[in-house]
Amino acid sequence: MIQRSYQFRFYPTAVQMVLLAQCFGAARWVWNTALAWRSHCYKIAGEKVTGVDFSRELTWLKKIEAFAWLATIPSTVLTQALRDQDRAFANFFAKRARYPRFKKHREAASIRFQIDQRGVMNAYRAGEFLKLPGLGLLDVRWSRIPGGVPKMVTIRRDAAGRYFVAFMVEEAIQQAPVSTQSVGIDVGLKDVIITSAGQKSGNPRYLRRYQRRLKMAQRRLSRKQKGSNRWHRQKRRVARIHARISDSRKDFLHKQTTALVHDHGVIAIEDLCVKGLVRTRLAKSMSDAALGELRRQLEYKCQWHGRVLLVADRFAPTSKTCSSCGTVQAEMPLRIRDWTCPDCGAVHERDVNAAVNVLMFATGGRPEGHARGGRETPSAGVPVDLGKLAPDEARTKPECAGACHG
Ligand SMILES: [Zn+2]
Repeated sequence: MIQRSYQFRFYPTAVQMVLLAQCFGAARWVWNTALAWRSHCYKIAGEKVTGVDFSRELTWLKKIEAFAWLATIPSTVLTQALRDQDRAFANFFAKRARYPRFKKHREAASIRFQIDQRGVMNAYRAGEFLKLPGLGLLDVRWSRIPGGVPKMVTIRRDAAGRYFVAFMVEEAIQQAPVSTQSVGIDVGLKDVIITSAGQKSGNPRYLRRYQRRLKMAQRRLSRKQKGSNRWHRQKRRVARIHARISDSRKDFLHKQTTALVHDHGVIAIEDLCVKGLVRTRLAKSMSDAALGELRRQLEYKCQWHGRVLLVADRFAPTSKTCSSCGTVQAEMPLRIRDWTCPDCGAVHERDVNAAVNVLMFATGGRPEGHARGGRETPSAGVPVDLGKLAPDEARTKPECAGACHG
């Protein structure tokens, strides 16, 4: 059994859109007011107050005429906003996040609904209907049929003005068959994914087309007066293109990662920071985003199917090393796509060679210093002895301090 999250687009009716706008507004008001109150209490008296404390104030506020509108909002929406803030503060105190910020109008917004498990039969049937308190039946586009029943439903409006429902369910998954195959992955521009076995994913052409469109839309945005109506309209257009790019990229990567995880027991990828050092800006943001999403998907899919995901050292010279003899070249400019190793004469395709090296560095196939000669180098598809990889050690991910992203 695993926790699996689902997200579906839905189309609110005109009435629901108004109700949702009120809910988003109320949740934002509660968040901002509670945040100001908490910050004030802490600064003035050094007192820590919680969402529960504010929740008590809310009950009292609802009785005052000026705040009677709060009572028209489903109470679960306000309670959950306060719970979210408690979590944001917990993350802040644990040094996992920055101090919680005020929420702004016109930004992406989300609200949560607790689903009463006693009445869940009338509120939810997978693939058929979803009813929420205060909103009624939602026109959900069920692109998949979830296997379980949600306890909590999040409604999100993104910066492009689209609406989504998201929730987690507990469900059983069918594990992929055991595989002893290992694979290294390099991420590039011409092909999004190149494997150590020489497979190339290609690069969907529409991504480049959207990228061009995005550039144009951003240029137009910069010419508009900031804060004006035209500026806001253009900003939404930019957000819509951004959303389309990230959706298509995700979709494309899902197909790739599902296949990779199905066929391999050990998957090696490169750490995110490596690419950032060498690429130009547009190229960098593209391959960084792809690598980040690739890693996110591989992490949970590997966990589902009991696969080992390895991350190659950030500073490993994956492009400069000859995967046949292990010599490290002094230079390997980006324009060089194919090269012949001056030491052993092996002919390399740049990206495939890098992918083989990713696997090698990640599995520790080559010692520190990358000395020449004498050492068997595992090539693509060679089974890796899983027993030799200490899982804790293998899964250690060197975190980027942010320095290399500038
Ligand atoms: Zn060589």
